[in-house]
Parts: sequence; structure tokens; C-alpha cells
Amino acid sequence: MSAMTKHVYLEARKCLRRGWFARNAPEAIATDEASQFHADEGVEVGLQARHLYPDGVAVEWIGLPGTLARTRQLMNDPNVNVIFEATFATDSYVTRADLLRRHELGWKIGEVKSSVAKPEVEDDLLDDLCYTVMAASRCGVNVTGASLLQINPAYRLGMPAEALFREADQTEAVNERLAEFSALWAAARDGTDSPGPPEATPCTACSDCPYYDDQCFGRDVDYSVRNLPRLQRPRLVGLLDAGILDKRNVAGEFLASLNERHQGIVQCVKSGMPYVSPKLRAELEAVRWPAYYLDFETVKTSLPLYPGVAPHAQVPTQFSVHRCSAPGVVDGHAEYLADPACDCRRHFAERLITELGAAGSIIVYSGFERRIIGELAANFPDLADALRAIQTRLFDLLPIVREHYYHPAFHGSFSIKTVLPALVPAMSYSSLAIADGDTAAVKFAKMARGCYGPEECAAIRRNLLTYCAQDTMAMVEVHRALFQEC
Ligand code: SF4
Repeated sequence: MSAMTKHVYLEARKCLRRGWFARNAPEAIATDEASQFHADEGVEVGLQARHLYPDGVAVEWIGLPGTLARTRQLMNDPNVNVIFEATFATDSYVTRADLLRRHELGWKIGEVKSSVAKPEVEDDLLDDLCYTVMAASRCGVNVTGASLLQINPAYRLGMPAEALFREADQTEAVNERLAEFSALWAAARDGTDSPGPPEATPCTACSDCPYYDDQCFGRDVDYSVRNLPRLQRPRLVGLLDAGILDKRNVAGEFLASLNERHQGIVQCVKSGMPYVSPKLRAELEAVRWPAYYLDFETVKTSLPLYPGVAPHAQVPTQFSVHRCSAPGVVDGHAEYLADPACDCRRHFAERLITELGAAGSIIVYSGFERRIIGELAANFPDLADALRAIQTRLFDLLPIVREHYYHPAFHGSFSIKTVLPALVPAMSYSSLAIADGDTAAVKFAKMARGCYGPEECAAIRRNLLTYCAQDTMAMVEVHRALFQEC
């Protein structure tokens, strides 16, 4: 039987069955390049925090008994005041504290997070910290303080290590929830230790449960009710309570209780035919031709890649523009891919202004491009007028699809990668070497950090250009196909 970890406990707190799967049938650990990069970033931020305490001592993992003994030894050494990765275990529970510092007559626990510090602390971060405090306390540690260390949004490359983190004392907030956490100690351990999973009971945690589709209510269901777009949690619980798992089984009072959009989706799935709103054509005809189909790629890292860039800031790196004189009639293509060695935001903005001409709709698929253009205008005041003029021409296809069209093959998703094969079966992303935005961003970040040789970089650049061009060509084709549907 595997140990009770923070992840298992926090899952069990939401739903015992969820905790059981986390403990007994953990999700496969993603090993793709993008997931590994994000995991490595978290490790790197943790290591950076160690620079705050040059005299601190790290507890290396040497198997549980040895690691526990080493932790005890360091805590008993009066010359050691700061311990990294102090490890505690009792009663099947295990925890490791990022930072353990001597504090008053006991110890202060610190959790290091790679997210940016915000004025309001997110609940899940407090939950993380509370778990560590609870488990360490149960192991006999006199915890006299608890805090979160997050990335300081004002940090810029070149600043000292102390400027990278913002620490916020959370002792009071943790103490407020500690009794509730402790009350679940035995139930979470025993409930996740049974030979089989506890019975499935509908609850609000079903809404974002990672086990829903493969291990629970969504298993072997073709058109799961959970993926009704933006379905409120209590409404999902009501449907599950009534045993309605598939959209095709929503009828009577349950159908009547859904909003108009959801009712349309249910009818569409039942009939197997797309739903087309009578307003779709008018919405599509609002485009002014020639139209420019525009897509951006960006890179975002916890520790900035370039001077003057904030942690986690989205730096635009790439765009593709397909110019069309009528639906589906392409008469030009332009693209841009930054040099990863330097911050190319200004060059990006200048090229964008040049390539988008002076008139005609600029078709995007989400509000992302509008936001990035606004940030560029704020960064480069001399380009702001031209960039704001671009913003006035933006035409977002996504809300039109969301409101006025539905295909059973969407399965609740309006992502261009789902919409494209449903509307244009001849096109898909499946054969691309880079097929999603996260991978594109990670490849770029790794080029900027010098992780690849010249030949690999050249191949990645080709693949990035192909991927971004596919996104705008997908928009061209989806737009054309939508015209044919109405
Ligand atoms: S889908 Fe719901 S009942 Fe099933 S494991 Fe997840 S949260 Fe628990």
C-alpha cells in the first residue's frame, strides 16, 4: 500500500473515492517534454529559494527510514537553523517541508511555490501548506509558524535572490483550517486503504475530477453530461443524482431546467445533426474583406528569459497571418518567428503592424490576441496608436461558434483543435511534429535557454512555423465551413 501523501489527502478531502484512486491507481505521470519542463521549473524555483539561506542544509532522499533519521539528526543539531526538504512520517502519512526554520520555541514551515504572489492567496495553496503543518505536527514537530513563498511579480533578471520571492505569513489562516483538516486524518487514511474504491457519490468535486471519464460516472458514456459547456456544479450533481450520465438521456423536467444553449446541445446530440442558429449567417457576414486570420504563440516561464520581462509574463514570439479576399479564398500568407536569444517584442509588434495592412477584419479565435496586443501597446507607447487600431478591427470567431453552432463531435469543447476535424474532416493536427501551444512555448523556451544544438533548433523553427500556420489555416477553413452550414 502506498503512503498517504499530500496529493492523496487533498484528493480524499474532496471525495474519498477520488482519494482512493489517487492512492491506488494514480494517473500516469505525464512524461512529455512540456510536462517535464514545467516540473523542472518547479524544482528550479525550489532550488532558488535555498539561496535565501546559505547556511541551510538540504535533506537528500535516501529512502524513507534514512531520510527521516537525517531530518531528526539535523533538527537536534543546535547549529542548524534552516532545513530544506525536512521529512516526517507517521500513521501511513508522509510529508516533506520545502523550508523548516527554527522559530521562537519551535519551527516555522515554509512552502515554496512557482506561482506569482497575488494580493489574495488561493485556497489550494493554503490547503497545501495546511497539510504540511498538520502532518509535521502529528509527527511531534512544534510548528509555531507557517508561510508561503511565491514569486515576486516585481522581480527582473539580474536582481538578487531575495528579490525573487515574496513571503507571506499564513499562520493564522492555517490555524483556522487545521481542526477541519485534522478531523479527516483517520477517515482519509482508512477510506483510501480499502481493497476497492468507495462507492461513487455525486458531489461538486465531480465537476473537475480527473477520474470522472475513465474510472467513474463518465466511463463508457459517449456523450457525457459533464461536458455541457459551463455547466454549474449543482446542476451536474442533480443530473448524476438522477442517474442521467449521457446527454441523450436528458429529458422531461431535467431538459426543461437547462438553459436554452444546453437544451440546443442536448437536442443536437440526440438527433446526431449539427445545431445551426438562425443568426449564424448574419454574424459571419459582419466580416469586412479582405480579412486577415491571425494567431499568436507566446512563451511564459516562472523565471524570466529576458531582462525587463516579469515572471510568468506572456512574451509573444510568433504569429501567422492568412489573408483572404472571400471565405476560403487565400491570397497571401505572412509569418514571424522571434530569435529566442533576445526579447523580440518590439520587432514582433512592428512586423505585425506592417503585415496587417490598414483595413479589413482581423479574425482571431479567442480573446488572447487582443490581450497580447494591449500589452504590446502598453510596453511601446510610440506604437500604441497603430496597435490599438488593430484591436478595433479584431473579429473573434470563437463566441460566434459557441453561441450559434454545435456539432455532436465537439463533445463540449470549442477548441479549434476539436472544431476543425468536426467541420473539416480532411484537416487535423495529428500529423504535426508540434501540435499544441504548450509544446510550442516549451520548445521556444528551451531554445532560449540553449538546450538544443543548431540542427535541432533549425528543425524546431520549421515545426513552429508549420504549427502556427496550421492554426490560421484552420480558422480559414472553419470559417468557410460555417458559411456552408447556414
Ligand atoms: S467523479 Fe465524483 S464521485 Fe467519482 S471519484 Fe470523481 S469526485 Fe468522486
